[in-house]
Amino acid sequence: MNQVSIIGLGPMGRAMAFAYLDAGYAVTVWNRSPGKDDDLLARGARRAGSAAEAVAASPLSVVSLIDVDAVYTALGEADLDGRVLANLSSDVPEKARAASAWARERGAAYLTGGVNVPPAGIGREGASIFVSGPREVYEEQRAALDVLAATDYRGADPGHAQLYYQLNMIMFWTAYTGWYQALAVARANGLTAADILPYAGYTADSMRGFYEGSAPLADADDHDGTHARLAMCAASLEHVLHTAAGSGVDTGILAAHAELYRRGVEAGFGADGTTRLLGLLGAPTA
Ligand code: NDP
Repeated sequence: MNQVSIIGLGPMGRAMAFAYLDAGYAVTVWNRSPGKDDDLLARGARRAGSAAEAVAASPLSVVSLIDVDAVYTALGEADLDGRVLANLSSDVPEKARAASAWARERGAAYLTGGVNVPPAGIGREGASIFVSGPREVYEEQRAALDVLAATDYRGADPGHAQLYYQLNMIMFWTAYTGWYQALAVARANGLTAADILPYAGYTADSMRGFYEGSAPLADADDHDGTHARLAMCAASLEHVLHTAAGSGVDTGILAAHAELYRRGVEAGFGADGTTRLLGLLGAPTA
């Protein structure tokens, strides 16, 4: 019987434990605070008395904690020698690399993972996880990790899974906060979330075209402004900013956007396209 230990039973770790139980694994679970595993135990999971005991119970431990510092705290006393840790806790790439070295020094094989779906998506069609670390370890553990979500191997650098994850998070958080900014303006004008939901869906769907259209231009540092000039974008951002200000809601996020485009126009890039933003954001040339 396949065995796995789950370290951390937040919503994500719990979803992972259920996915392994569904797949017929012998599952050992551990969480710092009590009270999060009763339903898992009822389904046949075993409770470990400590994180060290959980690591000892299975060849593979899937770690789902708040961040890398929590991993050190939880597993500081554990004997990791000969064990495999798949740390699917989010953190910055540098910390993922440091944690990999820390685990290796203790004799563990270590994979970093960045989970691309919320807990409800674990074990479901379309779910994916970025994974990085030694290829042979990935190949050995691939079938076990695929129980959670389709793995997308991002190379040997243990920081890379988190780098890809954080890139997705940059896009996610800016878009999701934008949704709430729009809702704030909507509510200040007597509209509800339900009123604007159809248009939010349209905007979200249309973003793929913007990404696909600008990617080749970005990689070539081509600043063609035939279809949309930075000056037009800057004017649009001023309208957005003043609509929000006129509605009496916070404008901090929008002001930062408007300032970026305004800076581009003032630098003489008004007739250029949006790829000029890369330089304005401090990116090196391609
Ligand atoms: P939660 O914050 O809800 O749970 C975090 C877990 O970490 C809990 O089990 C908590 O234990 C434990 N923990 C925190 N600090 C310590 C510590 N110092 N020592 C030991 N254990 C500690 O997170 P989620 O379950 O939602 O997420 C887990 C990971 O998955 C995170 O890295 C998150 O970024 C990532 N993720 C989450 C997604 C989501 O939608 N939820 C989506 C994609 C990735 P305790 O119960 O005792 O507090």
